[in-house]
Amino acid sequence: MGKDYYKILGVSKSASKDDIKKAYRELAKKYHPDLNPDNKKEAEEKFKEISEAYEVLMDDEKRQRYDQYGEEGVNFSGGFDWNQFHHYQDVEDIFGDIFSQFGFGRPSGPPRGEDSYVEIPIDIRRIARNEKINVVYQRDVKCEACDGTGSATKRQKTCQRCRGRGYIERSSNQGFIMFRTTEVCPVCHGTGKIPEEICKVCQGMGFVRKKDSVEFSIPPGVNENEIYVMRGRGNYRPTGSGDLRVRFNIDYQEFVRDGDDLIKEIETDFVDAIIGGKLKVNLLLGEKEITIPAGTQPNESIVLKSEGIPRRNGRGKGDLILKVKVNLPKKITKRQKELLEEFKKENEKGFFSKIIHS
Ligand SMILES: [Zn+2]
Ligand SMILES: [Zn+2]
Repeated sequence: MGKDYYKILGVSKSASKDDIKKAYRELAKKYHPDLNPDNKKEAEEKFKEISEAYEVLMDDEKRQRYDQYGEEGVNFSGGFDWNQFHHYQDVEDIFGDIFSQFGFGRPSGPPRGEDSYVEIPIDIRRIARNEKINVVYQRDVKCEACDGTGSATKRQKTCQRCRGRGYIERSSNQGFIMFRTTEVCPVCHGTGKIPEEICKVCQGMGFVRKKDSVEFSIPPGVNENEIYVMRGRGNYRPTGSGDLRVRFNIDYQEFVRDGDDLIKEIETDFVDAIIGGKLKVNLLLGEKEITIPAGTQPNESIVLKSEGIPRRNGRGKGDLILKVKVNLPKKITKRQKELLEEFKKENEKGFFSKIIHS
């Protein structure tokens, strides 16, 4: 008698094709090798056995011969192998669900649009002023003519290449390998649908390349290592748009950045450093007269509170630190020399009070 295909699938001799299909479906889920990583070899054997039974019982002629003559009547020469299996589609149907359920085995559907990347050169003073900027860039936008459907009628039809699945099997009938070689359908790009009538504006793509622009306020305290993301401002696809990713290429000009603080070097005359003075300095938001305190030492810092760039956390501003360079004259006049010699004498007499530190 040989193998009992009915018993293998657990169905009665009078089972309908639907019964057989149902039974196979349950067993296939149970024995698919990819779902049995711990006893793969065993599962492969079992899976092959139920598939053999399925092949025979789903084929009217084979089933009749089997009913009459048993396994001999089917006569798979040299035993059943996968080349004799004609129901890959059914297996695909079963595992299409399973694999999407487990998140492996087949592509996860059509990808959304790609992100757009823009690098914006910007000088530190514009960041300090919280300016708005307008970014102009190329991106794929939804085709208005067909409302992004790619179809002149705005209606779609099922993709014949993948029969609406959105993915295809590149299956050669080589045992179990075929279950893994699924890929996004090249015709419908994974959507399972194609335009009813190709839109002439976008050639059926549903999007067109266009110059677009977006205006936004410079994020407070942004730095060059950050990427500012604007959701949905990247390339359009019917499955979703990518993001716009902006990197700021900051020109610090005469400043050196230290977190939210900025450092700038200023030069002052040695006399002003000693007796104090005023100095016009070009700050972030324009020129300002600052005070050099009497007794300022070389490389000492004058801290201007909240004159830096807006803090990254959006609360207030950092400081502007002026590093003082004291200039000594290389040449002086005769009169200046006389005065300095007098100064020296005075100093030696000990009447000169100590330099006051600020
Ligand atoms: Zn397709
Ligand atoms: Zn269009």
